[in-house]
Amino acid sequence: MTPDNMTTASEHLISTGTQNAPQTGLYCFSHDLRVQDNPQLNELLCRCDRVMFIYLLNPKWFKTDHRGIRSIGEQRWRFLYESLQALDQCLRRYGHQLHLLVGNPLTLIPALCEQHHIQHVAGSYNSGLNEYRQWQQLTEQLDAEVSLAHQNTLWTSQQLPFRLHQLPKQFTPFRRQIEELTVQAPVSLSERLNLCQPAQSPDNTLTFEQLPKPCLCHADAPFTGGEDAGWQQLHQYLWKSRQIEHYKQTRNELDGWQNSSRLSPWLALGCLPPRQIWADIEQYEAELCANESTAWFKFELLWREFFYWSAHRLGSDLYQPGGERKKNLLTSFYAQRFRSWCEGSTPYPLVNACMKQLNATGFLSNRGRQLVASALVNELSVSWQHGAAYFESQLLDYDPGSNYGNWQYIAGVGADPRGGRHFNLLKQQQEYDPEGIFIRKWQGDASLQRDAVGIDDWPLI
Ligand SMILES: Cc1cc2nc3c(=O)[nH]c(=O)nc-3n(C[C@H](O)[C@H](O)[C@H](O)COP(=O)(O)OP(=O)(O)OC[C@H]3O[C@@H](n4cnc5c(N)ncnc54)[C@H](O)[C@@H]3O)c2cc1C
Repeated sequence: MTPDNMTTASEHLISTGTQNAPQTGLYCFSHDLRVQDNPQLNELLCRCDRVMFIYLLNPKWFKTDHRGIRSIGEQRWRFLYESLQALDQCLRRYGHQLHLLVGNPLTLIPALCEQHHIQHVAGSYNSGLNEYRQWQQLTEQLDAEVSLAHQNTLWTSQQLPFRLHQLPKQFTPFRRQIEELTVQAPVSLSERLNLCQPAQSPDNTLTFEQLPKPCLCHADAPFTGGEDAGWQQLHQYLWKSRQIEHYKQTRNELDGWQNSSRLSPWLALGCLPPRQIWADIEQYEAELCANESTAWFKFELLWREFFYWSAHRLGSDLYQPGGERKKNLLTSFYAQRFRSWCEGSTPYPLVNACMKQLNATGFLSNRGRQLVASALVNELSVSWQHGAAYFESQLLDYDPGSNYGNWQYIAGVGADPRGGRHFNLLKQQQEYDPEGIFIRKWQGDASLQRDAVGIDDWPLI
């Protein structure tokens, strides 16, 4: 449904809604933590007289797995916490609130629907397989009408020029077809948010004070969660600093807040809709400057789009060691090598500096991500999946499609027609950190040996 005919449908529902029995709706926020350009939210508001807003937290996020990795690391949790708080504050301005609940969506949502006589449930998909499967199950299970859409992308699935199973396997043919399409303008929040009443509050909600206390933001990476902060960053990067005009020249730098947009964390949590970014760039190009940097920036948003839809095409193959190529890779799990990679104590100073930056801030430049991924796979012979799991825990902008897709690409089991990437670390250091400024800043000193223990786990002297 396009935003245009959506408005028509919505108006129709408003005009007829009052004649029927009062309708109660449930909006389940996930990776769409915003009220602007949220057609699913608007549509629910138009159907309902009362509405409840929830966000579900999973207790597993705070537990560590067999590799000692916590599903959501400190900085990533902080950014999510702030984004939820910002959304709650926004809803409160309209007389509503965000209810935080802990538990399994497959039991919680049906129970809420029954207790609160909910007739309509809405939310959005993201690129994760588990979330997708949960929604499929809920759709079958619930008596309420369930409405879901992909709304963290530039195009909806209906607007794509191919069916998902026919999606091009490589980026270039995907891009050639998709860049012909127009990106629809973002839609504003429906005025119905003011008119709808809040539904009765659910039991067992948590307050923000009851959630794990978030850490402080690192001064070097001032990412603040929430919709307003995302808009500010967009405004700053485009209109205020005009850094976008130099994007092509600066995007590969290892450090420096202004060298790339830094918009990915807001995109990943849906605080900022990609259609808004696209609309702003087009306006910028029309009014101020269109050059190869503005074009390159749009090109990168298409990469995001590619990985998003590829995740849906691949299903569980996105997470398999052999990836979409179903390759048999000769890798293993060297616990000690993996640990030294995670903490930044490998024999490679550049890798160490990058990993320390990631651990401290929750962010790493695209170049940094490529280098550490290549080092884990090629220098340390550890399976890419462990690296992807560590990134999942640490990255503020963690997104299943972009993360696992890029890791597969580097490990040579994914969409790369060249079959993997092996970066020469010394050459990269000479090119991107010739004076060692980045390495010194993040104390990337090299450990002398790659292995501290032998195959039998005895210390090597
Ligand atoms: C191993 C590895 C793992 C990655 N994991 C993630 C992840 O979990 N989440 C994530 O958003 N990005 C991921 N990326 C892609 C990329 O590194 C980040 O999107 C980018 O560094 C974010 O910084 P930025 O917003 O300043 O990007 P910019 O350079 O300003 O680019 C603008 C936007 O384009 C998109 N984009 C840029 N490059 C890529 C790319 N290679 N793949 C997909 N989208 C891209 C992002 O949405 C980004 O915000 C990964 C890359 C690698 C090599």
